[in-house]
Amino acid sequence: MKIIVGKTSGFCNGVKYTVEEANKMVENNKEIYCLGEIVHNERVIKDLEKKGMKTIHSIEEANRNSKLIIRAHGELKETYEKAKEKEIELLDLTCGKIKAIRLKIQNKLKDHYIVIIGKKNHPETQGVQSFSGNHSFIIEKEEDIKEWQKDFQASKKDKVYVVSQTTFNSDKFDELVNKIKETFSKVLVVDKTICDATSNRQEETRELSKKVDIMLIVGGKKSSNTKELEVISKENCKNVYLIQDVDDLKEIRIEKNSTIGIMAGASTPKVVVEEIMKHLEEL
Ligand code: SF4
Repeated sequence: MKIIVGKTSGFCNGVKYTVEEANKMVENNKEIYCLGEIVHNERVIKDLEKKGMKTIHSIEEANRNSKLIIRAHGELKETYEKAKEKEIELLDLTCGKIKAIRLKIQNKLKDHYIVIIGKKNHPETQGVQSFSGNHSFIIEKEEDIKEWQKDFQASKKDKVYVVSQTTFNSDKFDELVNKIKETFSKVLVVDKTICDATSNRQEETRELSKKVDIMLIVGGKKSSNTKELEVISKENCKNVYLIQDVDDLKEIRIEKNSTIGIMAGASTPKVVVEEIMKHLEEL
């Protein structure tokens, strides 16, 4: 059996920073909440919850004068406003790359309509949109373009600024931008804000999945960047499995002479990959 682990596997810098800082915070604070899952990984969440962090799903659940972690995806503008009203101290761990996108948008807002290419129900895109003024739209698939055009015409703007969700599929972004360009004759400024950590990982996944018999994508089933890795691998490999941890391996039939590729999503701790490797080596 040959095992190849992707070099870009595991925590990206933004997630690494979030988890490290959250650990420091739970050690030094009594009442500390996190709005939404801190990362899409059950082990990381449980570990922090054991230390005292409480995951909540609405800011209304946090007590007055408490402390609240804003995770790497960032939050809606309204959340910052509500926190101020309730005198909640925010520990804002929004990734610097996402803050930079918000800032770029702020600089274009006055005379541009803002288009965000990404998943409509993802907290990062929703958060970024909340900082995008009254004229913005999230485009996730080709069918959304028509609806966006109607809103754009009603806005009376004549310039469009396009950004991306940081973990969006790079090829899909290009396809959607090309579709927009086919019918769009006004000024279109395209800023492909997919994070390097994401594009490098997607590229390595693409290459690795071409060389192996089985591709294991390790990560949370709710993780957007992990699901993209599964989609990319399926383009090149017939046996692709999205697994959360070593227990999920029991369901998979693995021949002794197989070549196995392993790639982990941005919210998967190193230790999960190490456990999977150990199990495979024992086989
Ligand atoms: S993928 Fe990139 S933008 Fe997103 S949290 Fe990680 S480092 Fe930040």
